[in-house]
Amino acid sequence: MNDPFAAPPDDTADTPAPAEHRTPSGTMGWLFEVWAEPKGRAIEVAPRTWQVTAGVVNVAVIETDEGLVLVDTAMRHDGPELLRLIRTVTDAPLHTVVYSHAHIDHAFGHGPLLAEAAERGDPPPRIVAHRAVMDRFRRYIRTADLNTTVNARQSGGPRTWWPRHETDIFWPDTVYDDTLTLRIGGENFHLHHARAETDDATWVWIPGRRVVCVGDLWNGVCPNAGNPQKVQRYADEWADAFDRIAAVGPDTLIPGHSMPILGAATIRERLGNAAELLRHIVAHTLDALNAGQRPDTILDTLRVPPHLADLPYLQPLHDRPEFIAANVIRLHGGWWNGYAADLLPAPREQLAAVLAELAGGADALAAKARDLIGDDLQLACHLAELAVLAAPDNTGAHEAAAEAFTRRFDAETSFMGRGIYRIAATTSREALRTLTTTRDSR
Ligand SMILES: [Zn+2]
Repeated sequence: MNDPFAAPPDDTADTPAPAEHRTPSGTMGWLFEVWAEPKGRAIEVAPRTWQVTAGVVNVAVIETDEGLVLVDTAMRHDGPELLRLIRTVTDAPLHTVVYSHAHIDHAFGHGPLLAEAAERGDPPPRIVAHRAVMDRFRRYIRTADLNTTVNARQSGGPRTWWPRHETDIFWPDTVYDDTLTLRIGGENFHLHHARAETDDATWVWIPGRRVVCVGDLWNGVCPNAGNPQKVQRYADEWADAFDRIAAVGPDTLIPGHSMPILGAATIRERLGNAAELLRHIVAHTLDALNAGQRPDTILDTLRVPPHLADLPYLQPLHDRPEFIAANVIRLHGGWWNGYAADLLPAPREQLAAVLAELAGGADALAAKARDLIGDDLQLACHLAELAVLAAPDNTGAHEAAAEAFTRRFDAETSFMGRGIYRIAATTSREALRTLTTTRDSR
């Protein structure tokens, strides 16, 4: 593809755009490659137990003597594919659906399964979730426009489907608080609440099969505990959840995305290292907060120990450690960034205009930005953004911003970061096209 910012083919939530630039600074590939590895497959991980991957979202399918238990149901548009894949391995009726959490890519794909149940004359399944799922769904309806915008910016795609009405949601009929044991087909399913990527997470331990289904508590890359555009996440408690999951001793782990993890020792080792990463980030952040440091310094001085940084399953391809630190700061210290002038700031455009005037015009700011691109891309991006804000009709400013943010996009490994840099670069590219057309038509 020629356009490095081409949109992905479908509407997605936390789903990445296809990676056109395949030269990340690491050697571990892109998020999309990690998540797409099991795509379109029903992998039998234990007897009568499958990881079914519709799109890039995993669904745990557990066949019991009473029918199927599903942990998660993928995205709405992947529903037909989910049904098709399930029916390649089992004809059992749907008995129970558990939501690992209520993200858009995990709790909306079972429309076709429900329609099939109705057609077959099967009773509708029970839907089970943590109590906080109800609040999340209600919040989704209140912020539908915000969330479609955020998800489009994350994925670089078009505005996405989002539930807008109560009838767009498959509401749970059973909720719980700390733990809940379901007995289905003579087997126990132990549901445990965790606060991690979300406040409504459930992991499901099936001792009779030694299988654990963890949803997005595991996604094959650095835990998504920092997403810059979404609500609070919980790195510390996530690490605790890793300990608890490891302690039950599963032989098989079905994650929300990426390949299943097989083998008790491997699971224990990976969960342990992920917990260590999160705790390292939390400790760095709290130590720095206690020492009176500001958020920008705290993020800038964060370093991941090499023995963790090199692990393929902790690569910053989705989220990144600095964003996790920012979320720890928000959790413990509020939203103020530590600069008094920013407490009740002037609109950034006004500040940019004054700085541009001091520099001798927006062209001078843009020129300095371009000078810095090779040496200090962070500073180059700051100056280019200020130049655009000071003079939104200035071609040089948009040229500098387009170049700086394209370079930043190229250098960034995280899906979350790339989405934001992509928008900055494409906005300036579009502005340049408009400015050129306007000039030519005069
Ligand atoms: Zn997910």
